[in-house]
Amino acid sequence: MLLEQLRYDVWKANQALPKYGLVAWTSGNVSGRDLETGYVVIKPSGLLFEDLTPENMVVVDLDCNVIEGTHGASSDTASHVYVYRHRPDVMGMVHTHSNYATAFAAVGKPIPVYLTAIADEFGTTIPCGGYARIGGKQIGEEILRSIGTSPAILMKQHGVFTVGKTVEKALKAAVMVEDVAKTVWLALQIGQPEELDATEVNANYERYQTRYGTANASLNE
Ligand SMILES: [Zn+2]
Repeated sequence: MLLEQLRYDVWKANQALPKYGLVAWTSGNVSGRDLETGYVVIKPSGLLFEDLTPENMVVVDLDCNVIEGTHGASSDTASHVYVYRHRPDVMGMVHTHSNYATAFAAVGKPIPVYLTAIADEFGTTIPCGGYARIGGKQIGEEILRSIGTSPAILMKQHGVFTVGKTVEKALKAAVMVEDVAKTVWLALQIGQPEELDATEVNANYERYQTRYGTANASLNE
């Protein structure tokens, strides 16, 4: 069987979507790319999360041909592959309809940097891309056009797509986008949050991305 480790990583990240409350029924998917072969491992279409196994993940090439798998690949496969083709830095992708983030997507609103947590993880406004139809590469094209430097994008009237240098990093961005969307939604009930200024955004992003969790992290930070 091809790509056993990547199958396991993609399966495990798919399992994390219901665990973190980011998906309902069969919605949502995770994929990962193998550097050596260029193949993409992705969730099969239409299976419940509890029925997923590392073995029934689907392996496709960058033309969306199924290389290994008995199920069809996720209906978002063409869009995942489109992003991998055009972003060599992206090795993992996650898609969800997580409720709070998708509420912003429903009304076509980005999430500005109102919180240090948004600066830390995203380093910029979480953008909202335009509406794109499901099934082909249109979502991938709109992700590429609108995501900028953010690891996450809201897709209008649809949901969340995240990208990462690893499958786990894309998963973390999907968890964090829902977490900050929930906090911002709550904040908007009681007042109008202010955006952090660019200096603070950059300082928080730099600290979190380079020093957080390392031996060099200052106790004063
Ligand atoms: Zn979707």
